[in-house]
Amino acid sequence: MDRYATKHGEVYCEDLPLRALAQQYGTPLYVYSAGTLADHFQRLDRALAPVAHTICYAVKANSNLAVLRTFAELGAGFDIVSAGELHRVLKAGGDPARIVFAGVGKTAEEIAFALRHNILFFTIESEEELLRINAIAAAHDTVARFCIRVNPDVDAHTHHYITTGKSENKFGLPFTAARALYLAAKNLRHARAVGVQMHIGSQITTTAPFVAAITLLAAFVNELRAAGVALEYVDVGGGMGIIYHDETPPTADEFAAAVVPVLRTLPAHVLFEPGRFMVGNAGVLVTQVQYLKTTASKRFVIVDAGMNDLIRPALYEAYHAILPAVPRAGAAQVVDVVGPICESGDFLGLARALPPLEPGDYLVVRSAGAYGFAMASNYNTRPRAAEVMVQGDQARVVRRRETIDDLLAAELGL
Ligand SMILES: *Cc1c(COP(=O)(O)O)cnc(C)c1O
Repeated sequence: MDRYATKHGEVYCEDLPLRALAQQYGTPLYVYSAGTLADHFQRLDRALAPVAHTICYAVKANSNLAVLRTFAELGAGFDIVSAGELHRVLKAGGDPARIVFAGVGKTAEEIAFALRHNILFFTIESEEELLRINAIAAAHDTVARFCIRVNPDVDAHTHHYITTGKSENKFGLPFTAARALYLAAKNLRHARAVGVQMHIGSQITTTAPFVAAITLLAAFVNELRAAGVALEYVDVGGGMGIIYHDETPPTADEFAAAVVPVLRTLPAHVLFEPGRFMVGNAGVLVTQVQYLKTTASKRFVIVDAGMNDLIRPALYEAYHAILPAVPRAGAAQVVDVVGPICESGDFLGLARALPPLEPGDYLVVRSAGAYGFAMASNYNTRPRAAEVMVQGDQARVVRRRETIDDLLAAELGL
């Protein structure tokens, strides 16, 4: 569910036409719907009401301060993976008592920074990391709360770059190793086990992998309790899929109906870490057609957004629906929508049937709110796009377009 729709012959975000936003703010342009962000959070929050829970939005999906502020105001917690993300969440008004810190490579500086802000817990991925956290907490004369990330060895049936819960992935510990570490950790004076965490992958479009993994996790929590390790938190990660094309992912209600029966059996507070589900379909990328180019075998539509703006098609072979902001009448033609970057992988969509287009027309790339701007780069010395937040009939720039001066500012070579 999202608040993009065609009205009066053009595509709107809430009550504003995307064409008008593109004309006002320029392209490429990321547009987000505040109403959709709130809607996604509230649907999931309501569906999960039968279990005591906190939704910790996965910041890496879209870390714009306005997006974080929106979720903070709704009462969300946050799942962070770097000190930089912690800075952002604090700046956006996020509550440290609802921040969890994941990632396989936390540095000493990042750990110290998070300890100073007294975040809820660290998700640890190795014994070495736990010992480092314990030592840093000792130096700060405090006690670090932690969860061990377990790797349940469940196949999430998603793209191999975004599956994380199989034993061949770098993430988490197998149950046996995690159990041994919980028992050994009882002796640590500056680190206290408060929960267990998992995250099995991203863009998961059925409930079965979640149910399988959560069932294993629940058995593990009960086994630990019997061994004298009582955990207050069970964090089941994120990964809920969205509709990009013809997927049929579970709705918030369907997801909850599948996982709540297992989670209810646990005397624990449950954390969820959705990223894509919250922001993916709340954002679009608007781009302007520059040239139409026909070769012996293909028709290309060359636009002003490239893989530096949205890398998902190039990196994950991801599909994003593309449609004109103001469709012209006429027969559809099959085209490749490509960017200006000097890479053959620089495309937004291949073999798409689109209505007739002219240079100057605007195209809307759907479902670009997650891992869109957040993964953008300055490759080819391209300033990153502006970001606009729409609420009803109001729009505001929540990140101005970068300038060439911004790009050069950190360089000291002359
Ligand atoms: C990336 C990530 C998430 C969010 O994943 P989505 O697929 O965007 O929901 C949640 N938890 C952890 C630990 C992650 O690394």
